[in-house]
Amino acid sequence: VLQKPITASNFARALEQPVPPRALTGIDALSLAIDRGELVLHWQPILDLETNRITGMEALCRWQHPDQGLVFPDAFIPLAETSGMSQRLSAWVLNAAFSQAAQWARVGVKPIVAINVSPEAFEAAEFVDVLEALRAEHGLSADQICLELTESSAARNPTRLRESISRLRLRNYHVALDDFGTGTSTLQQIQALPCTELKIDKSFVLQMAHSEEASAIVRSILALASALDVKVIAEGVENEEVAGILQAGGCQMGQGYFFARPMPADRATDLLCSRVKA
Ligand code: C2E
Ligand code: CA
Ligand code: CA
Ligand code: CA
Repeated sequence: VLQKPITASNFARALEQPVPPRALTGIDALSLAIDRGELVLHWQPILDLETNRITGMEALCRWQHPDQGLVFPDAFIPLAETSGMSQRLSAWVLNAAFSQAAQWARVGVKPIVAINVSPEAFEAAEFVDVLEALRAEHGLSADQICLELTESSAARNPTRLRESISRLRLRNYHVALDDFGTGTSTLQQIQALPCTELKIDKSFVLQMAHSEEASAIVRSILALASALDVKVIAEGVENEEVAGILQAGGCQMGQGYFFARPMPADRATDLLCSRVKA
């Protein structure tokens, strides 16, 4: 049997490590990538810190580039955002994520599927219509879906954002404020946003084990969330110690390399199915 050659691409994939992007030229390349089916979703579990059960799976986009191997989103999402490609990318991601969720439902697993939505895509007038149409097409219920918006989108147009989130909440979607703690939103803005979850940015969580300041920030986010009655997901949990501190401090959910790295869909399916049987 011929062994697969070790290319930068499948090596990176095995380790879930980024290949440094070289000349990723422009919008046309990204547009073509969508046409050619070069985008893929990897999935990272979100766990209940008390029971260690998987409650959700976050969709993380990668570009399986023909020459450059697995390209990570930080290299092409900003490109989409400055080039008017956000909506096309967003529609692709929603469709791919929902079809995966529908496949999982067929084999009896129903994690909450979390999807990153860029502010440009979210602010588009037709966003909710596209979302609802795709959701219905794939036979999913809204409470199985979590839309992750970055905290920085809150600062763009707070009134508009609040209205959009309210519309989603009325339909029972989960809405999480991502990268929480890194933005410039005021507590007043946060209080006014009807989110269901806050995701503490990994920059704080990664530093918790060494930095008293980072731990203090995490504690204050947990206190704020409890006062606002929203759940907290800590991202970037890389070791057991941090997982323990978070759980003791009242953080409901965690995500990070300690539990699992983002993984291709087939491995995510195996993981979900083995957890259900266990
Ligand atoms: P994010 O939404 O904050 O996603 C979390 C990032 O942290 C992911 O990077 C994930 O692989 C990484 N991560 C998870 N656990 C750990 C850990 O324990 N330690 C460390 N050091 N890192 C961890 P990734 O996949 O490279 O994604 C980067 C960003 O790209 C995402 O940040 C998100 O903002 C954006 N992104 C990814 N997929 C999409 C998408 O489909 N649409 C949009 N609009 N943005 C996306
Ligand atoms: Ca996210
Ligand atoms: Ca984040
Ligand atoms: Ca981020």
